[in-house]
Amino acid sequence: MFVVLTGTAGSGKSNLTAALAKWMVDEVGLKISVMNLDPGAEVLPYTPDFDIRNYFTIEEIMKKYKLGPNGAFLKAAELLRQYEREILKSKPVKGFYDYVLVDTPGQLEMFMFRPEGTHIMKRLEMVKPVLIVYVVDGSLADHPEDLMTSYLLNLILQTKAELQVITVVNKVDLLNDAAREQVRKLIETPELFAKEVADKVGGIAADMILDLAQVAEKYSPSARAIMVSARTLEGMKELYDVIHEIYCSCGDLT
Ligand code: GDP
Ligand code: MG
Repeated sequence: MFVVLTGTAGSGKSNLTAALAKWMVDEVGLKISVMNLDPGAEVLPYTPDFDIRNYFTIEEIMKKYKLGPNGAFLKAAELLRQYEREILKSKPVKGFYDYVLVDTPGQLEMFMFRPEGTHIMKRLEMVKPVLIVYVVDGSLADHPEDLMTSYLLNLILQTKAELQVITVVNKVDLLNDAAREQVRKLIETPELFAKEVADKVGGIAADMILDLAQVAEKYSPSARAIMVSARTLEGMKELYDVIHEIYCSCGDLT
């Protein structure tokens, strides 16, 4: 199965990719491969078996086409389509692995929210099942509105990508008990969480938050909060168990 890590920039996708890959190898003895699809990555905390930066990087695109970073990511989305064949015949896609972890750019609007990004997900899905792991930055717990916004993006992603999405809160090593409770509340009971945020925000924004929370509650992709730390490896087993459960319900068990 492909496990695609997505989420806003800085949420910890690359570190979580590294941590989860290592954990699955060390603790479960699985065969894991890692792909990097982020052309903007500078240093990666793992050694990928396929690296899109061998074909193009954001820096090169900016120089070559005289573009700013945003323009370069749009161009990168186009190039992603051009290099699709290279991706599809790469070692992680062709080889025999229990899981292939896929690290992606944080510029969600340029990857997951553009046809080129979802297109490559669809192509991967023709090879093996795809599970999207949406990473929420847990350090936002002090800013409930931002936490809520980040969480809601994953609902949009679900409708957009038509793929299975699970939500994971990363960086919980930074959170005290009260902050952990906040995060748990958002994921397990979004309406309750929204009521508190709405009281603070007020006005039309409060109404919107409440309405969105209702939608979240209805389509909530994960009933229980998965809280992890790529730094301390807390929660890795829980995350793996959920991934494995999904794999068993949709994957080939031979
Ligand atoms: P990405 O942009 O989503 O790939 O995020 P990175 O993996 O590059 O991480 C962004 C920043 O968050 C880096 O400074 C990491 O060291 C930090 N970070 C990532 N995961 C964790 C975590 O679990 N705990 C803490 N405290 N910091 C983290
Ligand atoms: Mg990254």
